[in-house]
Amino acid sequence: MSETWALIQDFSVEHRTWLAVMFGLFGATIGSFLNVVIYRLPLDKSIVRPRSFCPTCEQNIAWYDNVPVLSYLLLRARCRHCRSYIHWRYPLVELLTAGLWVALFWRFGLGLALPVHLLFVTSLVAISFIDFDHRIIPNEISLPGILLGFACSFLWMEHGFHWESLIGLLVGGGSLLLISMVYLLLRGREGMGMGDIKLLAMLGAWLGWKSLLFILLFSSVQGVLATIGMVVFGVKLKPPLPEEWELEEMEKEKAAKKEEQAAQAGQEEEAEAEAVEESEEEVPFMGAAIPFGPFLALSAVEYLFLGPWFFSLISGHGA
Ligand SMILES: [Zn+2]
Repeated sequence: MSETWALIQDFSVEHRTWLAVMFGLFGATIGSFLNVVIYRLPLDKSIVRPRSFCPTCEQNIAWYDNVPVLSYLLLRARCRHCRSYIHWRYPLVELLTAGLWVALFWRFGLGLALPVHLLFVTSLVAISFIDFDHRIIPNEISLPGILLGFACSFLWMEHGFHWESLIGLLVGGGSLLLISMVYLLLRGREGMGMGDIKLLAMLGAWLGWKSLLFILLFSSVQGVLATIGMVVFGVKLKPPLPEEWELEEMEKEKAAKKEEQAAQAGQEEEAEAEAVEESEEEVPFMGAAIPFGPFLALSAVEYLFLGPWFFSLISGHGA
């Protein structure tokens, strides 16, 4: 067993390159699955069934049209059946996941730490894009994420990491909860969602309490920079997409409105109501607040690569 291990550790550069390519291909496939999760999970749809289909013409997508990134390029970003446009975000998620898998292989090598961190970072990709689309961080990922992070910390029990994880979980969730409560007291409204609080608890559970300072610092700085950049370049975020229950409420409201209209049966009012429905509401930039979850996730990934450097920096290395 240990001989095999030594053999793997002694892999030539060429072998390691091939392994990296394999991890890239596998990561791209996982990214393709994440696209399904990101689209279906907030809508409470099954992520296994039905098979992938075009959202416009609802034709099933054949396996040869579902090869990550490659099919997108070969099809020139259009559906084979109805020629409708395929959003560039699908191949982006696939490329991003592939890149992260290669980077994590490069960072951790073939050890126990690799599958643990692949799982962690992959779930962060899903969380980030769902938060970006809907301004929610799904409990379906964050709550099991907290438990799994704590469970995995026992793999490094000899370093006392299970305590670091437990403290990270409590301090991570607790600190944001405190900030959010203070904000609520001062401003009279919620400044941070419960989703962000659960996400930071998850990050603390996976990375330990020592990571929290880095994560809060880096996520805030990058969040502020992104906001400034968006104002400078006039980038506007789309308003969040509705969740399943919101869709249902909207349907109900529409039905109620129609009933009301039918009861009144006034021609003028009908015309008015139609005009309101037709005019698409422009949502102002500040109304569509930038989601914080993707920045927390980004900083957690950065911590995996820059954490040691950061600690040597703040511990006064070279001072
Ligand atoms: Zn189609």
